[in-house]
Amino acid sequence: MISKKTEEQGENKMEKIISLCKRRGFVFPGSEIYGGLANSWDFGPLGVELKNNIKTEWWNRFVRRRADMVGIETALIMSPKVWEASGHLKEFSDPLVECKKCHSRFRADQDNGSLKAELVFLKEAEADGENPMKVSGKVVRYRLSGKCPVCDSPADADSFTSPASFNLMLKTFLGPAQEKANEVYFRPETAQGMFVNFKNVLNTTRRKLPFGIAQIGKAFRNEITPGNFIFRTREFEQMEIEYFIPEPKADHDWQKYFEHWKNEMKSWLRDLGVSESRLHFEDIPEGERAHYSKRTMDVEYDFPFGRKELYGLAYRGNFDLSAHAQGSGEDLQYTDPETGAKFIPHVIEPTWGVERTALVALLEAYSEEKTPSTDGEGEARTVLKFPFWLAPVKIAVLPLSKKEELSAFAKPLFETLIQHFACEYDETQSIGKRYRRQDEIGTPFCVTVDFDSLKDRAVTVRHRDTMEQERVPIENLVAHFSEKFAR
Ligand code: ATP
Repeated sequence: MISKKTEEQGENKMEKIISLCKRRGFVFPGSEIYGGLANSWDFGPLGVELKNNIKTEWWNRFVRRRADMVGIETALIMSPKVWEASGHLKEFSDPLVECKKCHSRFRADQDNGSLKAELVFLKEAEADGENPMKVSGKVVRYRLSGKCPVCDSPADADSFTSPASFNLMLKTFLGPAQEKANEVYFRPETAQGMFVNFKNVLNTTRRKLPFGIAQIGKAFRNEITPGNFIFRTREFEQMEIEYFIPEPKADHDWQKYFEHWKNEMKSWLRDLGVSESRLHFEDIPEGERAHYSKRTMDVEYDFPFGRKELYGLAYRGNFDLSAHAQGSGEDLQYTDPETGAKFIPHVIEPTWGVERTALVALLEAYSEEKTPSTDGEGEARTVLKFPFWLAPVKIAVLPLSKKEELSAFAKPLFETLIQHFACEYDETQSIGKRYRRQDEIGTPFCVTVDFDSLKDRAVTVRHRDTMEQERVPIENLVAHFSEKFAR
């Protein structure tokens, strides 16, 4: 339970981050000049760099630098038969309840303040008339209590609809005729692209088990209650791996791969600068897991708005490939090259959300500090203390003033540095204000060109975190920074 004070501080922090993101060009409200589209967000010049840094690092770490991984990029719109076989059309649903008085809609399985919902698991046989629904292969029922968080109506049958299954698949039509035969769906996850291409990848790459297929891409879900900035949106990006393993003879045979991916997720989060104390690796109890999963884990983070899922990790058995073998009639078995044994591989699935990663990175990096100033008064500065690899801008080149001689020196320097690192050139306002502006977007180093530079051909390099300054000859600058940014 988070205290009221922490909650207020948290809300405050979210507001500050949302405002910084808009002011500095990380994230803009979607379709803003037309009054916006609720819960849609556009990534600005710094936001797209931040996301790209996340995706590139992920790809290099988990695909490029591993002999047991390959990448793939599959279509956003796939045959509806894919979603039928995977079970999404039937079961990819959230429990929706509606207040009959004010018509507000809520997800019964989420924290809705004064509206409480008790989850009851049922056996198939008990799935009677009292609104049972199927979620991830489980038959469940929700019992409501409390009151509507919007209009205070009591959560009884007079004021509330019973929880009903609401399918999250986003539907559209392919071709000019808007008829049933042309109905298709935007993918709600990237995973199925890997499963339906398993055979193609196997045939073209001749990989041996264990090996993984990775994909980064958009996913769409018609979420009932999007919100909390970029935490829950209807359009988002996933970074996902399907790691195929031999048919296990004993639990240890899959557990070792599960542990491997859990550790990989931990080390990823460490390198992202996330404090361990705000992370929770939560095993989902047996009764709440999908029937085909022997182990599922939510990686949760203490967001300012509560403890929520950041990433997921699941051992899915051979459910997915078996479902597609059955749905498509294709043989999706693997033949062991040594024994000749044929079997459907099992799979471990770690999943990362790109926007949730960006949000956590912003929350962890955000800091407000008092700095000593020349007149002895503490001055406030906001700093995004991103790990260097994540910072959208690595170096800012700042001539002390707009004087012609200084720009003539600083501009070619900037042109050289930008060939190697993401750089900004800024000559407006006072140097103090420009430092603050770079601190606020998390730029690790500022390079100041002053009148001495013209004589000694050296510049002042100022460090974001310590604010220490050092003089560096310009001919050493590229090497100096290459060393700083080396990983
Ligand atoms: P939640 O319980 O928060 O709805 P989920 O369990 O449905 O999430 P998964 O299906 O496991 O999520 O999706 C994998 C990852 O994709 C999540 O861990 C998260 O990082 C990201 N993700 C899922 N839904 C959204 C969304 N609506 N907006 C942004 N990211 C999302």
